[in-house]
Amino acid sequence: MKFTHLHVHSHYSLLDGLPKIDELLDYTKELGMDSVALTDHGNIYGAVEFYKKANERGIKPIVGCEMYMALEKMSQERPNVDDKRYHLVLLVKNKEGYKNLVKLITKAHLEGFYYKPRIDEELLAQYSNGLIGLSACLAGKIPKLILAKKMVEAEKTALHYQEIFGKGNFYLDIQHHPNSPDQKIVNKGLIAISKKCGIPLVATNDVHYLKPEDAEAQDVLMLINTGANPNDPERLSLKTDDFSMRPPKKMIDDFKEIPEAIENTQRIVDACNFQFELGKIKLPHYQVPSGKTADEYLKELCQQGLEKRYGKNPKKEILDRLDYELSVIKEIGFASYFLIVQDFVNWAKENRIVVGPGRGSVGGSLVAYLVNITNIDPLKYNLLFERFLNPERISFPDIDLDFTDRRRDEVINYVSEKYGRDKVAQIITFGTMAARAVVRDVGRALGYSYTYCDQIAKLIPFGMSLEETMKRVLEFRTIYETDEKARKLIDFAKKLEGVARHASTHACGVVISDTPLDNVVPLQHPTQDDAAIVTQYEMHSIEDLGLLKMDFLGLKNLTIIEDTLSRIYAVRGFNVDIEKIPFDDKKTYRLLQKGETVGVFQLESEGMQRYLKQLKPTEFEDIIAMVALYRPGPMQLIPDYISRKQKKQRVEYLHPKLKPILENTYGIPVYQEQIMQIARDLAGFSLSEADILRKAIGKKIRKLLMAQREKFIEGMKKNNIPENIAQQIWYWIEPFASYSFNRSHAAAYATISYQTAFLKAHFPAEFMAALLTSERNDIDRISVLIGECRKTGLEVLPPDINESFTYFSVVPKKNQIRFGLSAIKNVGSGIVEAIVEERKTKGNFTSIDDFISRINTKDLNKKSLESLIKAGTFDKLAERNQLLFNIEKLLESSREIQKIKTNGQQGLFDGMEFNNKIRLASAEPATEKEKLAWEKELLGLFISSHPLKNFQKILEKKAVAISKIRDYNPKKIIKIGGIISSIKKIITRNGKPMLFLNLEDLSDRIEVIVFPRII
Ligand SMILES: [Zn+2]
Ligand SMILES: [Zn+2]
Repeated sequence: MKFTHLHVHSHYSLLDGLPKIDELLDYTKELGMDSVALTDHGNIYGAVEFYKKANERGIKPIVGCEMYMALEKMSQERPNVDDKRYHLVLLVKNKEGYKNLVKLITKAHLEGFYYKPRIDEELLAQYSNGLIGLSACLAGKIPKLILAKKMVEAEKTALHYQEIFGKGNFYLDIQHHPNSPDQKIVNKGLIAISKKCGIPLVATNDVHYLKPEDAEAQDVLMLINTGANPNDPERLSLKTDDFSMRPPKKMIDDFKEIPEAIENTQRIVDACNFQFELGKIKLPHYQVPSGKTADEYLKELCQQGLEKRYGKNPKKEILDRLDYELSVIKEIGFASYFLIVQDFVNWAKENRIVVGPGRGSVGGSLVAYLVNITNIDPLKYNLLFERFLNPERISFPDIDLDFTDRRRDEVINYVSEKYGRDKVAQIITFGTMAARAVVRDVGRALGYSYTYCDQIAKLIPFGMSLEETMKRVLEFRTIYETDEKARKLIDFAKKLEGVARHASTHACGVVISDTPLDNVVPLQHPTQDDAAIVTQYEMHSIEDLGLLKMDFLGLKNLTIIEDTLSRIYAVRGFNVDIEKIPFDDKKTYRLLQKGETVGVFQLESEGMQRYLKQLKPTEFEDIIAMVALYRPGPMQLIPDYISRKQKKQRVEYLHPKLKPILENTYGIPVYQEQIMQIARDLAGFSLSEADILRKAIGKKIRKLLMAQREKFIEGMKKNNIPENIAQQIWYWIEPFASYSFNRSHAAAYATISYQTAFLKAHFPAEFMAALLTSERNDIDRISVLIGECRKTGLEVLPPDINESFTYFSVVPKKNQIRFGLSAIKNVGSGIVEAIVEERKTKGNFTSIDDFISRINTKDLNKKSLESLIKAGTFDKLAERNQLLFNIEKLLESSREIQKIKTNGQQGLFDGMEFNNKIRLASAEPATEKEKLAWEKELLGLFISSHPLKNFQKILEKKAVAISKIRDYNPKKIIKIGGIISSIKKIITRNGKPMLFLNLEDLSDRIEVIVFPRII
């Protein structure tokens, strides 16, 4: 006799099931079963993953769901009534059943959600074809009626369900939980109904965890889920009985009195034959102008692009490349894909949304360049198409796109409008329990004190798993080995680590489908108070289903570019076309050579600044190389790269054929594309084969690598390269290859680096104002950026009631930036808008009285007015301390005026001069120290002066200026002086205090670490 578990929960039951899919399937196999169902609560999040991985293991997967049934109607939301619901297990028999299940789950989430996603019997009847129903656990409707001693109704319900699913498709779910008196009653009732009505029984175990010893971990998971007190005897718990994946032998034994309940599991397995269609790409339809195919239309667009990009007579090399790319695209049927992407990219560009020049490998495509998807010439920069689309190994091409972060949603919206709101959605992602959080959560569930758990959690380095921590952190291991309580905590935590915890929206993924999505993928809201719609499958499942998935990324730096361009237009009256700036601009390279790269994309870090100063970049190639090299690993190649560029190190080649490929990077293989070219030019690989070689080296799969090595060396021998040289080349190239970086991506990102550097070099005030504005909510960053302004000779003026706008603004014709009002702490956007608007329509404020009489908004309260005063906004109208001293009077006056205005006497009031002059009592003027302290608090920095001004002479005599430190030999001891602007204390692993502080002098600031032995 054979048995199959047909009622099984995984961690996708979100805190109501323990096993991850791999664990579940491995254990199924271990127990010798060749089929299993997955029936998570209210969702099929795991369906595709389960299906795919089960097939890989030779296990027959049965997709299903334990649905929530509304008590009566799914539209009803009666408090204290509809917060309860029934369970019902559904299993998918065939394609129609899957489609119906997807509909049911989608409707449950989007229409029937009340505490849980619910459907009702009416809806079920509509979508029941192709599904098998099981009456579920004690929370099913029939068991509940049996327990309520309503046998007649229970029978009626059972017959009703049988009618809904059709005879032979509904089963009574019988479970063996001997410690539950209720289960005994229910089983008796179910057997009676089965006999009387001829409805078959089926044995399940409502699996929530795999092994009996996991029961307690499941219990902890439930405590985390419900937040219940672990000592509450009433709380929900499965601990009393065994809800593990019991071995088939045990199940058969448990039901030896009712063997048909076991046999029926096989009847169901035989009836369920649904198969996902995986790996087949389903592109949405792109509406092509009449009479043309997608391929023809794409070709037409490319030809238009040819003239724009290369003029009337493009070189043969370009035409050949275009023909080749188009033929590959045609062969694999991706023309619509390019058409879709170019359509929304061009829409964005037409609407002045700055789009990144490309990211990832798409930069290697000439077609993408011609239709405007990318903006780097792949031929000029030697970017390879095969790195993007390999005709010999078709996988979905990946076009990811960067947009200005604040306008990304407009593009997504355009796409939904164009292809239909039912065909476009964002993608779900699951937050999982990470090591630190899981320790804290488990501790709370066990009733441990917060501080105790926190201490243990803090021993886990960020991003490290519990197992790794156990290996690497001695203190963690010691506490585990010596402290009983901690051992229990950590053991549970290990079982719960990585379990899915909640759903949310993936940061950038968007799916575009050819058919309405709810035919293929269940949909839901990311959370109940978020109206957006996301797929219930995560990224990988979406890809496996062959749906078109794209990443729409929001990039802050593009917003800064966009803002700089509009400031240039506003201040200077001309447009700069960022896509057409020269790439050999001397001023830009000078800025890079000096390492003045604060705010420059990808080149900002201190390490990078240092390298740039040594490298002295003179051409765009240098920037591409730095973007590619400045990563852990290849970073060690930078010193060689620099000394070769400076001609301090000789460049030699193992073979003359390497020279043309590696010349650009001084003989150092930096890019994956170079590795591919070497394989082509020296070993006779096609570029497609070369791409396979590149992947083999990158993934370091030994077997694959050996085969590739042989092919590579043989190929070189055939090209008359002596065997010993061929060997040498392979061993020389291998480590580089594993470091090497996608040149297309590096070139695209280097373009943004160059663009930001260009803007900073030519339009420093506009650029820095845009940068400051984009970072206005980060007070520490603001002070760094203002330091940078000062270093480069840009003056940053304090906020001024008549000069400041909402954001940081450029003072025309002067090297000055004016503080934005919205960057003052505690000053909300309402009052800022009111001030700017009033000034625009009726002119500058002439006095504080004038201000009070003209600004009437409820946002002008004590806190906002005080902050404006303290930040020095009114300095030209009155003294800060006097205003503060009279603040109540000012506010009262403001309230009075507001009252008069709202009482309908506005017309009367408007005609009169405001002559009720507020009499300000005199006060001692604020001292410089006070003013500076206020500025630091509200603006994040000292602006009107600096507390160290009076000590300037002493500092110059006794200390090294912080800005000069980098010129000193790192081994030399130097003295610096300044004020501590921020301080952070941490406790080391040895329990000793350690300090991180920011020390600031008149020239710059620096982070200082104070080690425990000094304190
Ligand atoms: Zn249930
Ligand atoms: Zn269940």
